[in-house]
Amino acid sequence: MKIGIYPGSFDPVTKGHLDIIERSAKMVDKLFVAVLNNNAKSPLFSVDERVNMLCEVTKDIPNVQIDAFSGLLVDYAKRRNATIIIRGLRAVTDFEYELQMSQTNRIMDENVDTIFLTTSLQYAYLCSSTVKEVALCGGEVGKFVPEYVVEKIKEKVSLLNAGE
Ligand code: ADP
Repeated sequence: MKIGIYPGSFDPVTKGHLDIIERSAKMVDKLFVAVLNNNAKSPLFSVDERVNMLCEVTKDIPNVQIDAFSGLLVDYAKRRNATIIIRGLRAVTDFEYELQMSQTNRIMDENVDTIFLTTSLQYAYLCSSTVKEVALCGGEVGKFVPEYVVEKIKEKVSLLNAGE
């Protein structure tokens, strides 16, 4: 059984992430999409909210399971018996960091390999932080994220505005 992990912040999940999830789910028997609980970043959505959005937008893909983890990715991979890490590559700017991370992970655990999927062209520009910026400035994000996530972003932005 081939088990893969697609880790990330997913703050929030975009159509670019979803494209990588759909494509990589076809390459493995089971895919864990794992939200990294990273204290260093100050996210817009909590880990639970990000997990909930991912569950909703992937509910029709049977071999995908949504999860959260903290600590080392290779340790999480071991706990899940996963041997494949999936990452998406958008542009050369992603490459250097991703190369370094995948080599570090491989040195820490030689049983885990990273596979890179190049982004579909229509999502090459897309990243969560831009989506957040647009939304916080009152822009439409329906072209960037699934409909369910559009609604969650609207709720979050109006909560933030009410607190101002
Ligand atoms: P972001 O950079 O959008 O904050 P994450 O940290 O959640 O994204 O990224 C998780 C993984 O998804 C990374 O491998 C990242 O390169 C990839 N990814 C993010 N956006 C896209 C996209 N539009 N197309 C392909 N891969 C993507």
